[in-house]
Amino acid sequence: MLGLIIWGTRGQENVAGQGQFWCPGCSQSVPYVHKKIQRYFTLYFIPLFPTSTVAEFIECQYCRGKFQLGVLQMGMPPQGGGYGPPPQGGGYGPPPQGGGSGPPPQGGGYGPPPQGGGYGPGQGGPQGGGSGW
Ligand SMILES: [Zn+2]
Repeated sequence: MLGLIIWGTRGQENVAGQGQFWCPGCSQSVPYVHKKIQRYFTLYFIPLFPTSTVAEFIECQYCRGKFQLGVLQMGMPPQGGGYGPPPQGGGYGPPPQGGGSGPPPQGGGYGPPPQGGGYGPGQGGPQGGGSGW
């Protein structure tokens, strides 16, 4: 048998990201590198593909300290603020009901006309006369 397959795994360090963070060791904001140690499947000592993540950490580029990923959330100023929901309502209630549109006032100076009026029967007149026969 001459066939000999050499395979195995090996760890390899990869950079998953970088940026600025507040380093607990330096007590200041310094650049960091987010590193991943990944285990690669190798064939003939050639890494083919990663099989698992062995370790993942943040490395300070200033003091070379290694920290957990959670260090990125430490020491940061609080986020959010002032983005609540807008105030609801606001002057859009139902329109006021009623309002000067009642029934018109009844009556109003139009009663029956006044009866009588100074024209009584004109009786009598100068009777008799002065002709005595
Ligand atoms: Zn540091």
